[in-house]
Amino acid sequence: MASLTLDKVRKAFGPVEVLKEINLAIEDGEFLVLVGPSGCGKSTLLNLIAGLESSTDGEIRIGDRVINDVHPKDRNIAMVFQSYALYPNMTVRKNITFGLEIRGVSAQERDKAVADVAKLLQIEPLLDRKPSQLSGGQRQRVAMGRALVRDPDIFLFDEPLSNLDAKLRVDMRTEIKKLHQRLGSTIVYVTHDQIEAMTLASRIAVMKDGILQQFDTPQNIYERPNNMFVAGFIGSPS
Ligand code: ADP
Ligand code: MG
Repeated sequence: MASLTLDKVRKAFGPVEVLKEINLAIEDGEFLVLVGPSGCGKSTLLNLIAGLESSTDGEIRIGDRVINDVHPKDRNIAMVFQSYALYPNMTVRKNITFGLEIRGVSAQERDKAVADVAKLLQIEPLLDRKPSQLSGGQRQRVAMGRALVRDPDIFLFDEPLSNLDAKLRVDMRTEIKKLHQRLGSTIVYVTHDQIEAMTLASRIAVMKDGILQQFDTPQNIYERPNNMFVAGFIGSPS
């Protein structure tokens, strides 16, 4: 677990500036939800934190450690995507433990890790199945299991529930909330579902065109939106 700081972070793709001086201080154990319209730079921001893209300017820190030049594998950050990105030819068990295996974790430790995570996510009966034998919700649980076994400092979620139907989305939202309460992990969670944002977040960051419009508690965002955009996107209608 760790705090996460973005200090004047910018990202340009060629001449196009996608993120413009982003400042965010996310506390240890915080559940930050990042919202904003499609194309505003949410995934790019997560990719910078994960190290899948490098920032054009500014500093990213986990705790006191500057991680701009740290290889993604050495950042101890786990990312869960909208598409589950499971290995189709591996069993659920193997999907969850594969990352540990290539890192040299012993079979005994891997068995224990997968047992713990499977119990937590209630996927014990699924461990010997292949991804093709799972429903969408089950696949997303496995993807979460794969992130959880790594015991990361920070979890990044990029619209993890948007492929699921409405009922399952609500169930999974509740599960994710419980998991966070139980584990106390630091989470950055991207969604364009306002209700998801309001129910999950300790704080919400609202972004538009690569600029942070407001970074505040759900209550303050709702009751005291900074501007018309925030009010229209997530705030109260008044
Ligand atoms: P969001 O996740 O909020 O929908 P993205 O972060 O995916 O937005 O994209 C923000 C902007 O950056 C979009 O205009 C997108 O086209 C552009 N973009 C994202 N990745 C790249 C890339 N690798 N090269 C060029 N432009 C990109
Ligand atoms: Mg995106």
